[in-house]
Amino acid sequence: MNSPGPSNAATSAGARRNSDGAPVLRFSGVHKRFGSFSALKGISGQVNRGEVVCFIGPSGSGKSTMLRCCNLLEVMDEGEIFLDGQSMATPALDASQIRRRMGMVFQSFELFPHMTALENICVGPMTVLDWPREKAEEKARALLVKVGLETKAASYPSALSGGQQQRVAIARALAMEPEVMLFDEPTSALDPETIGEVLNVMKRLADEGMTMVVVTHEMSFARRVADWVIVFDNGMVVEEGPPAQIFDNPLEERTRDFLGHLGWNG
Ligand code: ADP
Ligand code: MG
Repeated sequence: MNSPGPSNAATSAGARRNSDGAPVLRFSGVHKRFGSFSALKGISGQVNRGEVVCFIGPSGSGKSTMLRCCNLLEVMDEGEIFLDGQSMATPALDASQIRRRMGMVFQSFELFPHMTALENICVGPMTVLDWPREKAEEKARALLVKVGLETKAASYPSALSGGQQQRVAIARALAMEPEVMLFDEPTSALDPETIGEVLNVMKRLADEGMTMVVVTHEMSFARRVADWVIVFDNGMVVEEGPPAQIFDNPLEERTRDFLGHLGWNG
């Protein structure tokens, strides 16, 4: 399934744990340039239903750009991305439809500051899905329970810790009932003491079978939760495989270098 290009150099070994799941996302030969700079040089890979796929790699290696191409926040220059087997280039799939099917959680939570936690979660279903307020609120309250914030429904973001805001942001994304959740370094902006609560919510989502793509520098989370890990470097896939391979027995020197720089030693 790899297309021609540098990503053919990627090494892959071991079976995927959820290889029965059909691919929810599949990308093939994705290139992205910013002016004359190539940020993505032929990225291929796939995310199966129910799977957690982690993107790891040095800063600037293209992880966020790849994630943003998946939900059309960036427009790729070459390649194809398929959502449930349908090319995103299909005219029948417009950008708003595609984004509606993917929940995105950013490093900076980007909650609406003038809305309570509950309102932040309701606003998408009410405006985009045309849900009546009652139905949206019922769903929002259930999601607040899920992320452990049932007592914070009436709180404004400014009254919440970073970890709590990020959990509201996760609930807000889930309110749209996405097929896949995309996380871009969801804990990088958090105080160390609140990182764990966000990772726990993500772990629980994964255990419930949510399909997730997670860009992260939390290697112990990736080691524990990922079904599949894709290692980026310099706009290319260096290596991909199950976490036991990537973290305990990497095939590629550049993977070892990257993990070594982070102080990872198994
Ligand atoms: P990562 O998420 O792995 O840290 P990014 O995907 O954010 O990396 O960035 C990959 C490369 O593309 C970096 O060199 C970055 O500076 C560059 N880049 C990303 N977005 C833009 C942009 N909008 N304009 C110009 N260069 C960009
Ligand atoms: Mg990034």
